[in-house]
Amino acid sequence: MPRLLLIEDDAAIRTSLTRSLSERGHAVASAPTAMAGLQAVVDTAPDLVVLDLGLPDLDGGKLIQMVRAVSKVPIIVATARDDQAEMVRILDWGADDYVVKPFASDHLEARIRAVLRRMASGDPTQAVVVGGLRIDQRTREASLDGAKLELTRKEFDLLLYLAEHEGEVVSKRVLLAEVWQQAYGGADKTVDVHLSWLRRKLGESAAAPQYLLSVRGVGVKLVGPGQET
Ligand code: CA
Repeated sequence: MPRLLLIEDDAAIRTSLTRSLSERGHAVASAPTAMAGLQAVVDTAPDLVVLDLGLPDLDGGKLIQMVRAVSKVPIIVATARDDQAEMVRILDWGADDYVVKPFASDHLEARIRAVLRRMASGDPTQAVVVGGLRIDQRTREASLDGAKLELTRKEFDLLLYLAEHEGEVVSKRVLLAEVWQQAYGGADKTVDVHLSWLRRKLGESAAAPQYLLSVRGVGVKLVGPGQET
């Protein structure tokens, strides 16, 4: 059972996340301050840390760097700020992934599973690889057969999410929730438009797919080449 450490000063969020992550089979410990969190990292060597960036006693960025100085434990950051410069900083400080507040616990759990899976795969670059596709979350770069793909932020997030769920049919509702953080009931068009842009950049089309297969009435799945069926 993966042991998670949640560093979060908001008692209500701490309680609800501890409950929902425990229900999903994680052993969850928590700390209400940066210093208590750092102490817990040293004392308990958790498998993964979820860290709120806005802590009362220490800047979250500082805390990430202090954790990094003593441990290689994967870190997922929860941040209230959704801008690209902030995300790049968070990853530069040594975090492995981030979620933007407010987030659904399902979304966080998916990120946790993905990070733990990457760790278990032993790939130090932590890139997701499917066939000729290589998606590196740290640098936010993706390539196809060695050629760099010029993707917008949402295209990158969409490709990464689908690649992390290789072979699984993912519904547009789930994509809206996970990639756009939009509540269910949003417009499918958003997903369709981005999928078609992504297809074009991958050099394929809905009629002649290679990686991105539409499953009529259900959603889309990403597969390796030659796995159309
Ligand atoms: Ca906070």
